Amino acid sequence: MLMECELKWALNYHIAKRGEFDNKPILLQHAWRLKHMKNVFLLFGELMHQMIEAEIKILLETGEVLSEAKIKKKLREMLNQVYWQSKYRANKWYKNPKFNQMLFEILYNGDLDEHLIQSIKEKMDKCISGFIQSETIHGVLAKRKVKVMEAEKFRSFYLDGVRVVLSADLIFYDEYNSVYGIVDWKTGKQSTNDRLQLAIYALYLEKNYGAEHLDIELTNEYLEEGINKNYIIDTYDIDHLQEIFHESSKRMTELEENLRCSDDEILKYFQKAENEKTCDWCNFKALCSDELRELHINNFIKGIG
Ligand code: SF4
Repeated sequence: MLMECELKWALNYHIAKRGEFDNKPILLQHAWRLKHMKNVFLLFGELMHQMIEAEIKILLETGEVLSEAKIKKKLREMLNQVYWQSKYRANKWYKNPKFNQMLFEILYNGDLDEHLIQSIKEKMDKCISGFIQSETIHGVLAKRKVKVMEAEKFRSFYLDGVRVVLSADLIFYDEYNSVYGIVDWKTGKQSTNDRLQLAIYALYLEKNYGAEHLDIELTNEYLEEGINKNYIIDTYDIDHLQEIFHESSKRMTELEENLRCSDDEILKYFQKAENEKTCDWCNFKALCSDELRELHINNFIKGIG
């Protein structure tokens, strides 16, 4: 996020939370609401991860076979519920965005278009069957003697005095082969950063569990494509990761100085995205765009009553 847009990073991680209170400037109050919004793909990804965590728990505890129909039914219900809340209960989101949901597409476009609905349905079908048929389910959890260490939990470790926060989808220990495994379920497309993300998890295992990086199996399960990729990280990955880490933490420390500015002025102290395409899918575009700002602030004022 920092590399995409410094303003987005500052809003998301620092500035928006100032707007939780109603004595703050209207722009910051609206930023707080926008931070709590999700687009339908992100929402689907989060719900899919929740389902995966629950299904793996049941599988390991009871041996119950995974049911495609059951997962699909639950996911549909959850997605429909958020759609309904966003479409017909927007005032609740304006009043309390922590406990009421809003979809990006509904706030900015008024509804989900048919093409989008179709592509989410297709994605859901492919991801569910990709999960059920994945190598992690069939080749690892069903066949090997593994102990789940962590799943979907926020954890942190210190790297050169800086706290790094992460949430790995699944960390297990294979007692027979004495290796650790880390699995990252992906509902989106493959990206060049995926390996780097896994390298961060591997560093966490080294620091917190004393694992050697040669004894850590890293896996990306691309559910929509039904592809499984495995890696063992090497010193090049660690060096590359540390280089990016140092650059970004240095920049964050510099930017944190700007956070001392007053609430009324703070937004102008952070650079906007160079590539305007980044803004198309950004939650905060209602604040940055001259065309959208007035309309959205008026809706916010009406929404909070
Ligand atoms: S709308 Fe664009 S400029 Fe504004 S925060 Fe988002 S990405 Fe940055």
